[in-house]
Formats: sequence, structure tokens, C-alpha cells
Amino acid sequence: MPALTKFGLFLTEKGYLPKDFVERVNVRLHEFGDISPSAMARLLVNEYKVAHDTVYEALSKLYAFAILEIDPEGLDAAEIGQTKDILSKFPDDFKKKLFFHKIFPYKVQNGSREALMVLAADPTDKILHEIPQQTPYRRYEVFWSKLKTIEDLIQKISPQKNEFLQLLEEAGDVITDLDSTAEAEINEQALEEEINKSLLVNLFEGALVEAVRKDASDIHIIPANKNTVDTYFRIDGKLSLWHRQENTAPEALAAVVKDRSIGVDRFERDTAQDGFAQRLIDEHLIRFRVSILPIVSAEYERRFESIAVRVIDDRKVIADFRKLGFQQQAEREFLKSINTSKGIVIVTGPTGSGKSTTLMAALHQIIKPEINVLTCEDPVEYVIRGARQLKISHKMSFDQAIRSILRHDPDVVMVGEIRDKITADIAVKLSNTGHLTFSTLHTNDAPSAITRLYKMGIEPFLLAYSINIIIAQRLVRKLCDNCKRPLMKEHWKAAMELGLQEEELAAGKIYEPVGCPKCIAGYKGRINIAEALYFYPEIRAEIVSSSSDINEERLRAIAEKHGMLSMRDSGIERIREGLTSLEEVAYATSEEE
Ligand SMILES: [Zn+2]
Repeated sequence: MPALTKFGLFLTEKGYLPKDFVERVNVRLHEFGDISPSAMARLLVNEYKVAHDTVYEALSKLYAFAILEIDPEGLDAAEIGQTKDILSKFPDDFKKKLFFHKIFPYKVQNGSREALMVLAADPTDKILHEIPQQTPYRRYEVFWSKLKTIEDLIQKISPQKNEFLQLLEEAGDVITDLDSTAEAEINEQALEEEINKSLLVNLFEGALVEAVRKDASDIHIIPANKNTVDTYFRIDGKLSLWHRQENTAPEALAAVVKDRSIGVDRFERDTAQDGFAQRLIDEHLIRFRVSILPIVSAEYERRFESIAVRVIDDRKVIADFRKLGFQQQAEREFLKSINTSKGIVIVTGPTGSGKSTTLMAALHQIIKPEINVLTCEDPVEYVIRGARQLKISHKMSFDQAIRSILRHDPDVVMVGEIRDKITADIAVKLSNTGHLTFSTLHTNDAPSAITRLYKMGIEPFLLAYSINIIIAQRLVRKLCDNCKRPLMKEHWKAAMELGLQEEELAAGKIYEPVGCPKCIAGYKGRINIAEALYFYPEIRAEIVSSSSDINEERLRAIAEKHGMLSMRDSGIERIREGLTSLEEVAYATSEEE
């Protein structure tokens, strides 16, 4: 067992955390290489769910940062004025970046050495070093404050606004007024059309901003009837109604969306169209992919369209592999599979199972300036710093791009999806010529990915020796910590059928969703469950010996003997950890796609 780090010792000696727990965390910390106090702090908060304030208070004491607790509600007008004055001297984008990092420039200290007092939830955050370059304050002093204090300060002094929604509210009033002044001499209809148009522009633009802030993955704009149109957000995988616009023809809103997107024809209403848009939201460039489909309506003379907008926010790319939260053995084998110079790493699962998030994080784990990382995806979703991402267009197809990769001297390649024999052949060839290759497939579980590749026409021998690991994964919704409750007795039977023991149910550690203002129907955020099939020699031998078919059951049995959790067992572990519910796991691991 590796010796405790300085921070590890500090945590135990000062009584912040129990020694045996810190020792366990310490083992895990050493598995990753970076054993700095900051890495340990991140591990404790992100993976072991230790309270942010506990960890960073200790880290602050280790580094001898002063601690400052203030009551945001107790600030008087003069203090608020002074703070706003300081903030006005910060460039807007830098200010927002600091807020994002939970850092708050509080006041200027009096005395001969004038210095800016900065409150930070993590005083070791490197972004603090940018203050002298980005602001007029050459000297600053960092204090540690609780996370909630800083969040409250930001909310009180510099709350986020959605100006489109404000305009929408104001416009709503105007329309009501118009109805009541029916005798006015103005051309009401023309005026109403004008106002309606600006209202719809605000509705669309407001939806884009809100979707980003609410962490929605998609926006759906759907006609409800001939003069009502609904806007839904998909958050944590589930659609929910965000706004119902009445007294508006759905065609009018569709026209506004088309007008404000690139690459779509406003007057085309009979075919599928794909366009895109980009907006600067909270000082960050967000891209949107817009898909428009003609749909049938009950009124034959009307031509309705359904609109789906995918939100592409590069900030959501998880650069820290540990944040993916794979269970121990899966994570260890995954890391082993990517920290090598060759072989294929496959992530498989249905659409929306988080495959690309996992691949992005894996790539970030290994990207270095001295290696050439090439990606070939259609379409490119996220921009990856440090990688060269091929651009698919009408001049270069996916197949052409894939073939040209081999001639571009790569070290690591990411192929968006193995979709046919051509892509599969190239992935195998890359692997056999000493390249690490990442890709995805669409299968329900890990063993069936091997069958899929075999059926594409790849020889068992090549399959066996070119693949490092196959990860099958799903996302399940996380129970809201604020309102989850121990599973009611009437649901115990179902729980026991899933393999849980009566004792653990009686202990009250298995939870079910309730629902509160902080969550959606008892859930908030998502976590993955996964089946990680690592290519042990025994697995390779089994694949090589297959004749007419791949024996998935035998492969599964061998892998489980080596400790692989099946998708369902991985989910049951998550239930035992109190993180998700029976329904979520049952739903995610049911057979049909
Ligand atoms: Zn809740």
C-alpha cells in the first residue's frame, strides 16, 4: 500500500476524515499518477462524494490560506456598491469564468498595501493567477469561503439574466393591451403581426439561452394544434414542457426558427432539412444543430413541421476521466486499455447512452502535444483541443476520410462509428500497425459487439488480437439527494426479484424517487452503468476457436469469472450505493433497444 501523501496525512491527523477511508482513497489516487493535493481533493469530492466544504477547508488550512465567512444577506448598500464597482473593472468573459469556477472578487483591502480580497471555494484554482493580467488589480489575496456563500454572493450581486425572456414577458403584456383597444385607429393586424414576430424571435432565442443554462441536450418545438405550439427541453434524457405559446400559428414559429438558422430554406416545407446555428451565451460559443421534419396534422390544409435542436456545449465535455464514474474494475481495465500504444477500444450502446462523452474523456486522458490524434466523425460534435478533426463535406465523404487517415501518420485515431466492413477493416489495420483506435458501435451488450464485427466479415483471429476492450454502457438517472426516501415496503418484492437482499432493504439504504423543487420527478443528473469486456488471453482464445459463430454466452461466462459486472449487476451496484432506483435500472437494462 502506498504511503499517505502530505494532504492524506493532514486529513487524518486533523480529524477531517477517518484514517482507513483516507488510506483507501490513497490507493486509488496512486492508480492515476497525479498525487498532488488538488488531485486528491478532486477525487474526494467527485468520486467519494465527500462534502466540497470539508475537503477544501482542509486543503486551505494545509496551504495556510485565510478563511473568510461572510453573510451575503448581511451586506449593506455601500458594500454591495463597492463590490459592483470592482466587478465593473473586470472584462465580462473573465468575470463569468471566475463565477463558473466559484470565485468572487469581494472588496479592496484598506491600508498601505492595497490588495483585492478574492473569495474562492478552491483557493488553489490556477485561474486565480490570471487576475493581475486580466484586471487592474496587481495585488490580490485569496480567502477560502464555503461554496454556498460564493454562490449566494454571485446570485445577489451579479445574477444571470435572460434578456429574451424578459422581452417575451413584456411583449406578452403588449398583446393583452392590444386586445382591449379594439377601436384604435391603427392597423391592428399589421401591428400584431409585427409584435408577434418579435415575440417569436424572443421565444426562440430565449429557448436557446435557457436550454444551455438548464443543461438541456435538446429543444423540441412541436405544433400542439392550429394555434398553439409547445417547446420541450430534454434534460437528463427526458422531455418536459418548457413553454406553451398560444394564439400563434405553429408555421409562424417554424418560419422564425428557419430564418435564424443557417443552411435551411424558409419556404421549403415538404422535406427534411438540417441546419445549424451558433450563439454567444454567457460568454461561451454554443453551437446548435437544427433538424426540421414535415409532419402530418389533423387539418389537411396546414403544413406542420417538427423541429429538434441539439445543443452542443463544449463545456460539457468531460476532460477528467474519473468524473465518468465507472466502477472500479471497469475503470481499471479501461485505463489499462487506453494507456497503451495500440489496439481498438470500443464503446457500445444505443443512441443517448453517453458513448461520445466516454470517448471524449478517454481521449482527453491521453492527448499530449507529442502525439498525433486524428478524429473522423460525421458530424463532428465537440471540438477537441489538441486533436486534428477531419471535416466531412460534399467534397470528402466519411469513407474517403477514413482511408486517408492511414496516410496521415497518426498515433491515435478516433473513428466516430464502425458502421460497415470498410470502417471495421481500417480500425483493425490501424490496430495491427501499432495505433490506438477508439470507436463506437450500436449493440446492447459487450459480447454482441464481437458478433456484430464478425458478421461484418472480420476474421475471428483478427478480432481477437486487435481489440483491447469493449465497454457497453447506459445512462441511468440519479436520485435527487434532497428528496429520495427509503424504498417503501410494498416495493420490496420487486427489489428482491432483482437480486437485492431483505436485510439491505430493511437497513433503509435502498431508495426510491419522490420529487421536489430541486429536481425533476425525483431525479437530478445521470450516471453510467457499464459492462466492460477486457480482452484477457482466455477471451482471445475463445474468439479464435469460434468456427461458424461467436459464442456470446461462453464469452460472458469467461469475463464474469474474471470479475466483469454485467450491465444489470452494474446497475444493482448503483442501487446499493443509493444513487439510482430499481425502475431506472430495470428500464435501462431491458432487452429491447
Ligand atoms: Zn428532489
